[in-house]
Amino acid sequence: MNSARVKGVSKKFGDVTALHHLDLQIGQGEFIALLGPSGCGKTTLLRLLAGFESPTSGEIWVNQECVADQARRKPPEERRIGMVFQSFALWPHLTVYENVVFPLQHQKHVPAAYKDNPKARVAQMLEMVGLGGMEERFPNQLSGGQKQRVALARAIVFNPTLLLMDEPLSSLDAELRMQMRKEIQFIHRELGTSIVYVTHDQSEALAMADQIVVMKGGRVEQAGSPQDIYYSPQSPFVAKFVGRANFLKGNWSCPSTFLLERQGEPTVPIAVSRDFSSFRAQQILPVRPDQLKLTAWQQGMEGVVGKVSHVEFQGRELLYSIRVGEDDWEVVTDISQRFSYGERVCVEVCV
Ligand code: ATP
Repeated sequence: MNSARVKGVSKKFGDVTALHHLDLQIGQGEFIALLGPSGCGKTTLLRLLAGFESPTSGEIWVNQECVADQARRKPPEERRIGMVFQSFALWPHLTVYENVVFPLQHQKHVPAAYKDNPKARVAQMLEMVGLGGMEERFPNQLSGGQKQRVALARAIVFNPTLLLMDEPLSSLDAELRMQMRKEIQFIHRELGTSIVYVTHDQSEALAMADQIVVMKGGRVEQAGSPQDIYYSPQSPFVAKFVGRANFLKGNWSCPSTFLLERQGEPTVPIAVSRDFSSFRAQQILPVRPDQLKLTAWQQGMEGVVGKVSHVEFQGRELLYSIRVGEDDWEVVTDISQRFSYGERVCVEVCV
């Protein structure tokens, strides 16, 4: 069953087409990350789901009901959808309690138990986001992280079936972001609410989502699990946007064998276990830095041989640049694999 569905939706603002005939299904309890560069249409899609905009064509379905098409638009408060914004969007003149209780008074579909005893429900939500006992504070008496927790409590207090989050962590510092990531995942597990989460940050999407939807120019470029998006990108754009990627040059002899080509060297067949069918016409194979294995070169060794051209210490890992023919390949190894600048190494491709 789906919590929401976007069916062939296009959205135009004057001459600008923000979304082109887009389809998306949000399964019940699913955590979807919308990832893509600035201007690709992430926020527009979220605003259409929330009910702040109408589609130019196509339909939006929420909880098995068509809530918007060209002819009608159900208002946000009737959709059982919660929203969290980057800017927190708290009312400065209201206390934490008054901010969080607001949806219980204004949303259409609120369970009777929460309406009858709003104090208990608000206290429960504040406890869940780690702000128990802060009911009487005003937003200007809170840190950025606390404000975002209030915004989160306000978004979930009325038990929405879908929670929309627009870059909710981008105005927080790095440490707090890591902590809030865990808390949002905890809330997702506890409540089972479906989440659509907009982010620029690929590591956030990879860490948190069940499904990542990579968008480009108002279209879905690829949708899939974090593992699929990372290890089986279907376009150079996705390979580059989500993590680091090397593009090995050569030819496909069949779907499971790529023939690596280097100038003046014999071709090397590489066994490929994943589906890269969309790369067959492009004569390249995308390979992640962690899919290349290095060993010290010894006399008589065959295969792909390169030279260390750069090495960076990155904490738990080392990032190498390996000169292979005319190209530099990025390789990540664990800290125990030490090779020096200029050293010859054998490179094994494991895809
Ligand atoms: P960002 O990551 O920078 O927030 P985004 O992926 O969320 O970007 P949108 O804000 O959805 O992108 O914008 C998509 C396109 O639609 C952009 O070209 C933007 O300029 C345009 N757009 C969005 N809202 C409006 C509007 N109200 N009027 C005119 N153009 C708009």
